Amino acid sequence: MPITLPTYKDVVAASQRLEGAANVTPVLTSRTINREVGAELFFKCENYQRTGSFKFRGAYNALSQFDAAQRKAGVVAFSSGNHAQGIALAASILGMPAAIVMPTDAPAAKVAATRGYGAEVILYDRYTEDRAEIGRALAVERGMTLIPPYDHPDILSGQGTAAKELFEEVGALDALFVGLGGGGMLSGTTLSTRALAPDCMLVGVEPQAGNDGQRSFESGAIVRIDTPETIADGAQTQFLGNYTFPIILEGVNRIVTVTDDELVAAMKFFAQRMKMVVEPTGCLGLAAVRKLKDELQGKRVGVIITGGNIDIDKLGRFLHS
Ligand SMILES: *Cc1c(COP(=O)(O)O)cnc(C)c1O
Repeated sequence: MPITLPTYKDVVAASQRLEGAANVTPVLTSRTINREVGAELFFKCENYQRTGSFKFRGAYNALSQFDAAQRKAGVVAFSSGNHAQGIALAASILGMPAAIVMPTDAPAAKVAATRGYGAEVILYDRYTEDRAEIGRALAVERGMTLIPPYDHPDILSGQGTAAKELFEEVGALDALFVGLGGGGMLSGTTLSTRALAPDCMLVGVEPQAGNDGQRSFESGAIVRIDTPETIADGAQTQFLGNYTFPIILEGVNRIVTVTDDELVAAMKFFAQRMKMVVEPTGCLGLAAVRKLKDELQGKRVGVIITGGNIDIDKLGRFLHS
């Protein structure tokens, strides 16, 4: 059966549901980076979103549309961390039970935060077990509704509200850089960008070790890879989704990759010059802007800082390295 893809209208509806629940995150600038890159950069700071990443947007948008029976049984989710926290907080705000399937090597801060929002955490080994399988089994067993981290119309429509806010605040941009895992954020951003800034060059950014999105984009079919080894733990996805991929294929201009070292350099910049804690995955956008700077001279460039959740001692090690 063909699926119905969400449109910008769904992003607008999501932004109305999120009003008063999600933060309208700040857009920050830095003269230092503008001088370094030779462009005017606008950082949309989702590290200051509730739960520390944009994932709360999609989660709340999805859960707030549950009917009475779904609310009573609750939600199950599988996630390397930020989706888990988004779902856990949204469930707690909406007064429903939540069970979260998380990898044993997820950052301790993310596990603790998820439990802190009142969710039940179920751990699995990300290299040997299938999280989707475990999630689906739980959903059947307990009658819970499974909300996947990216491949769901309500999730991606919710994620698209961040770029909507960015364009509404700063106007059209020449280019916009967005981190890419399974593509919830990038596909939602595509809907907002094509509606509000049709000429903007939209760039998805992946870790070099996990460039399935780039390969899928270039070949026109979803490419599956093994779980990539990268410090960008929010982008360790193995494939794009049936909802996210067609939207990306149609509306994104290009997908580029960056190395872990380039992510660390960006993390250091954010900490030292902008006084911000940004997790490795949140650094994808800036790392790519630096790489493509020759093409961006004199341009107005948006960067979505997707999240700021990182163990404090791990952050210390990266800043020291
Ligand atoms: C989930 C996540 C991403 C990737 O988002 P997708 O919707 O899976 O593409 C990027 N950065 C952070 C911080 C995330 O939590």
